Amino acid sequence: MVDAKKVKEMVAKKSSQFMGSVSGAGKVSPHMHCRICHEPISIKADPRICKKIECIEKNEKDEKNQRTVRIAMFVFFGLFAIPYIFALATSLMG
Ligand SMILES: [Zn+2]
Repeated sequence: MVDAKKVKEMVAKKSSQFMGSVSGAGKVSPHMHCRICHEPISIKADPRICKKIECIEKNEKDEKNQRTVRIAMFVFFGLFAIPYIFALATSLMG
């Protein structure tokens, strides 16, 4: 059996939360979120991180990782592309 009182309480809580988010929505100015900790930051922030040292460090690390991944991709595709180009060249010559 469902406790009607509890249900009513839950509904009241939910609707009050909903009303709260609606009334608060108008006050929020355009902003972005730190890509590391998701703190609200200035929309002009570049890179898209807050001013916390750990976020700056993590962002730098991520950028370095991305660079490494990109280089690895180049090498990886290069390994496939070189024999392919070579085969193409020899077939054109032959
Ligand atoms: Zn942050």
